[in-house]
Amino acid sequence: WQGEEAETDYVFKVVVVGDSAVGKSQLLGRFAKDEFFFDSKPTIGVEFQTRTVTIKRKQVKAQIWDTAGQERYRAVTSAYYRGALGAMLVYDITRRPTFDHVARWLDELQAHADGSIIIMLIGNKSDLTEKRAVPTDDAIAFAEEQGLFFSEASALNGENVEKAFLQLLEEIYSVVS
Ligand code: GDP
Ligand code: MG
Repeated sequence: WQGEEAETDYVFKVVVVGDSAVGKSQLLGRFAKDEFFFDSKPTIGVEFQTRTVTIKRKQVKAQIWDTAGQERYRAVTSAYYRGALGAMLVYDITRRPTFDHVARWLDELQAHADGSIIIMLIGNKSDLTEKRAVPTDDAIAFAEEQGLFFSEASALNGENVEKAFLQLLEEIYSVVS
């Protein structure tokens, strides 16, 4: 049997978290399918998308979970985090409160996810330079202090999206392989 499954060496579950409307679903769509929907609707129901990438000649299937529009504080259930090896913690560079809430999301990850989960902080909507409300340096300092990987990105124009997801997957790979 030469099905796709037979060729997968690893499956990595990754969760995407962060406040509502920061662009979680669009980032996922960009990475998984190279899509961006201008009329995107809030996600309903827990779902994930997959994309298989090659890391050090191994086929790694990233299974990336999107919240069910449950971004209200403490509404995301622990089942969502179960088994996750990585997390994309997203804020919106044009809305300061979404960055201020990153600490809460870290608490959530600490409470529900495995202690060894690898976290990448993402400042999304980097295309909206004129509306920037969070200086890059603030995010860099915070990420260093908390031991997070960090990148700004734009789901709209694709900037750094691929790079950030691949970096997270490579970091996971280096830990599990
Ligand atoms: P979610 O609630 O975190 O899943 O956010 P969505 O992915 O649904 O995106 C929320 C809104 O932000 C939508 O109107 C998107 O079109 C918009 N959006 C998402 N990513 C970007 C981006 O990188 N740049 C810009 N300008 N808008 C974005
Ligand atoms: Mg969404």
